[in-house]
Amino acid sequence: MTEDQQRFLCEAIALAQDNLEHGGRPFGAVVVRNGEVVASGVNEILKTNDPTAHAELMAIRAASSKLGSPSLAGCTVYASGHPCPMCMAAMRLSGVAEVYYAYSNEDGAPYGLSTAAIYADLAKPFAEQSMKIQYLPVRLDSAPDLYAEWASRQATT
Ligand SMILES: [Zn+2]
Repeated sequence: MTEDQQRFLCEAIALAQDNLEHGGRPFGAVVVRNGEVVASGVNEILKTNDPTAHAELMAIRAASSKLGSPSLAGCTVYASGHPCPMCMAAMRLSGVAEVYYAYSNEDGAPYGLSTAAIYADLAKPFAEQSMKIQYLPVRLDSAPDLYAEWASRQATT
């Protein structure tokens, strides 16, 4: 572990600690680029009733807003806890290069703070997952194909 990794993980844990002292869930995250914190976030689902208000997503939103780009290429995320599949996917989609976390799913499991079961479920084929997922290829007769239309507009701009 490098000094930076230790320092930024401690910062994420301190955010989580502060959040729990204010009635929130024990999760914090920071986004770092070139050795400096770009933005941070804490879990705000209890405060906002937004089920997606996880620390990593809040930090990603703040960092993207601050950087003025949906791309977080070259950024590293330090999270107090093991990122859930939603946050992991958001980090992938935004181009985050590296992620480090201090508390694992195994650390969280005794306290109901593990997302290991969701990871396991998502790894199964759609038909075997606990949530019903089905492809229903509906198209509008009154409009051009959605994706083809998007592509043709991309070509003209
Ligand atoms: Zn999450």
